[in-house]
Amino acid sequence: MSDELWTLGAEEIATAVRAGELRAADVVESCLARTAAVEPSVAAYLRRFDDEARRRAEEVDRRRAAGAELGPLAGVPVALKDNLNLEGDDCTCASRILVGYRAPYTATAVERLLGAGAIPLGKTNLDEFAMGSSCENSAFQTTRNPWRLDAVPGGSSGGSAAAVAAGSVPLALGSDTGGSIRQPAAFCGVVGLKPTYGRVSRYGLVAFASSLDQIGPLARSTRDVALTLAVIAGADPADATSSRQPVADYLGSIERPVAGMRAGVVAEVDASTLQPAVRDDWESSLDRLRQLGVEIRAVSLPHLPATIAAYYVIANSEASANLARFDGIRYGRRAKSASLLDLYLDSREQGFGPEVKRRILLGTFALSSGYYDAYYGKACGVRRELERQFSAAFAEVDLIVTPTSPTPAFAIGEKVDDPLSMYLSDIFTAPINLAGLPALALPSGNDQGLPLSLQLIGRPFAEADLLRVGRAFERATGAPAMPAGLGAALRGSTDGRDTTAIDRSGAPS
Ligand code: GLN
Repeated sequence: MSDELWTLGAEEIATAVRAGELRAADVVESCLARTAAVEPSVAAYLRRFDDEARRRAEEVDRRRAAGAELGPLAGVPVALKDNLNLEGDDCTCASRILVGYRAPYTATAVERLLGAGAIPLGKTNLDEFAMGSSCENSAFQTTRNPWRLDAVPGGSSGGSAAAVAAGSVPLALGSDTGGSIRQPAAFCGVVGLKPTYGRVSRYGLVAFASSLDQIGPLARSTRDVALTLAVIAGADPADATSSRQPVADYLGSIERPVAGMRAGVVAEVDASTLQPAVRDDWESSLDRLRQLGVEIRAVSLPHLPATIAAYYVIANSEASANLARFDGIRYGRRAKSASLLDLYLDSREQGFGPEVKRRILLGTFALSSGYYDAYYGKACGVRRELERQFSAAFAEVDLIVTPTSPTPAFAIGEKVDDPLSMYLSDIFTAPINLAGLPALALPSGNDQGLPLSLQLIGRPFAEADLLRVGRAFERATGAPAMPAGLGAALRGSTDGRDTTAIDRSGAPS
């Protein structure tokens, strides 16, 4: 086999490893070499497990040699967002407050990946506690977009998306509360799926906003996303919100024809307000769907314009409650303080970054007596109305389509001082979490080398439909290329990319 094993997808790897045509150890070695080459520029990982990955790969090869049955992800290297617990490793959520915390157990979704034979290569960077859209809120480092190193990878699962796009791993897990799988997938030109609320157990995912959070896969193809979803989905006694709905055969139905399906375009989305490149790509994506025999119809979601406001009230309210446990006593690094009150105050003051504090303040305010009805209560009303409007729309159409993001990846630093403009990048993704629906982000084109993306939104538990349409769209579009210049940039070429050193000054020693 060539030394370019890192370019293979998860399905190809697992099939070849199971057939004895490929050694997991060789795949892992190739991905480790690729990772070592790209990480100095991309900085997708907070920690890497090279030796442990080699050990796990040998174990897969040994089991294969002994004739044992191997799982559907046998030998597939994966990257895990650092808000997913993996027993024995840290789980920092890219926050100072969790430095030194050791996960005492493994998240169910991760456990299922391991059970299927996947091999974790490391934990990836994120916005602190998954709050952000660019990875710039990480307390430790700024991850760069593999397509253009001066651009953000998106967030909050930006490390996972960048690792997949850069070829370090074929597969990664992220979490999505208001777009954190789909928007970085869009910015990095990979496929990302936010499953229906309850489709994947949240046990072991550090909670941001419990009624919105979902774990989901990022990969370079819809088939790999389908394969992974089938592994991680399904009921879990440890998460009472996980659904007992049977898990579909996503891969088995993914190649079925899509002609005759109906896709809704939201009347309230004014295409003329999109950036010209995003608008052109959006229009050609609709044409591509039409050519596949998908009928495009208008649907109405009158409350869509109110959803960013409602999302930031609800998500921050839940976050203010969820983050109360990081107090230096129950969880979190303890400040050395003179009194008990100071200990609480100092631990939180020193442990949390500015965006997390902003959100705790906003959420606490929205939940406080006297303001509850005006903010939290009202936002919940918007959410209920939006759910109703989505289900009325789904009486008319099988799926709804929007761009995933109103812009391509923006420059590092461009929005850090303007949280409101950062929040607006969630306009097409956050409503989906409010309504608990599944949505798939698909590479659709590019703007001067930066990826663009189409979002397919489905009925509850209709992930199979999204993957099937997504697969047809992907076949029509052609598989997204890998960032071609990356290797050249790494060798120090001066092709216009910013290859200045990554600031890792915040990294824990
Ligand atoms: N960008 C959104 C936020 O900052 C979404 C985050 C997420 O999905 N975790 O809240």
